[in-house]
Amino acid sequence: MITTDRFLLVLVFLFTLLHNSAHALVILQYHHIADDTPFSTSTKPEVFAAHLEHLAQSGFNIVSLSEHFSQQNEGDASANALEVAITFDDAYRSIFTEAFPLLRARGWPFTIFVATDLVGRPGGRYLAWDELKAMKAAGAEIANHSTGHQHWARKPVNKSLQAWSDEFLQDTLRAQETLETHLDFAPKHYALPYGEYHPLLVNQLQAANFLVFGQHSGAVSRPAPLVIPRFPMGGPYANLGSFKTKVLTRAFPGVPALHNPILTGLETKPMINATALGLLNARGLNCFGPNGAITPESKHSGILIQANAPLPAGRARYNCTQMSDQPGRFYWHSYFWMKQHSDNTWYAEP
Ligand SMILES: [Zn+2]
Repeated sequence: MITTDRFLLVLVFLFTLLHNSAHALVILQYHHIADDTPFSTSTKPEVFAAHLEHLAQSGFNIVSLSEHFSQQNEGDASANALEVAITFDDAYRSIFTEAFPLLRARGWPFTIFVATDLVGRPGGRYLAWDELKAMKAAGAEIANHSTGHQHWARKPVNKSLQAWSDEFLQDTLRAQETLETHLDFAPKHYALPYGEYHPLLVNQLQAANFLVFGQHSGAVSRPAPLVIPRFPMGGPYANLGSFKTKVLTRAFPGVPALHNPILTGLETKPMINATALGLLNARGLNCFGPNGAITPESKHSGILIQANAPLPAGRARYNCTQMSDQPGRFYWHSYFWMKQHSDNTWYAEP
């Protein structure tokens, strides 16, 4: 009897712990699940299988993006769950041949963000519409990743803001129509090609009722920012050790709704006020920029995060983590930058 009472007490204690744990969603972003594709965007099939096995063994709740985000305004029904969503970008064929059998066997939902012009291209590198249909029938969500995977955030100098953002919206709607034509339905979820954006384009997507997904690291806060973070899982980021840490991360409370990543030639050391992350003190806050560790500075106006050397032209990140009050769980947020040359021209892509 005493043993049973103790057992119940332990159960109550565990339930209380779970109940107090803040809600968390972590979204994983994959491209190829293959051995013979470019390293930086590839996850080896056996590593992908190990990711899934870890999620299963640790009791994560695997959710579809629609399921999670439709609950956004319905209180905190899933406040206690550790949720993970699985996504793939670009429509590579290995999603069908390598990832799908494993996900179907577990009955787990996932999303494929498709650049519609790539589907069915000859050569066997990309998915065919029939394969997308088969995965959709088995519970996958097929969503929008533009028509041609363009670098939309770079406004051409000879184009007006209005003409440029209209062109972007037309491209988005054209891709959506293509998805709906082939698949009958597609959720209004848009993953930004290369994770790149300009705030004006995000506003366009929002006005057209799209949820917008980026590719900068971080857990998803509630309410979610306008560009929802996802953890890239290709190349060095696929490592199982860091995977285990990432799926447990929490969003900093009060993540800003929209951050402008575009830096003109003169903005060489962008500054973030960390109070915008809901931070009250810098203790245990670790930030890294392209030049290494950043020492957060306490000023009367808050905690400032700024690279210790000018950012070079190109893409860059400030990656910030802080230990939370739950052992082994970090708050995680990363700021993404697109730094122009000093004459405000765009850098070349590698
Ligand atoms: Zn992509």
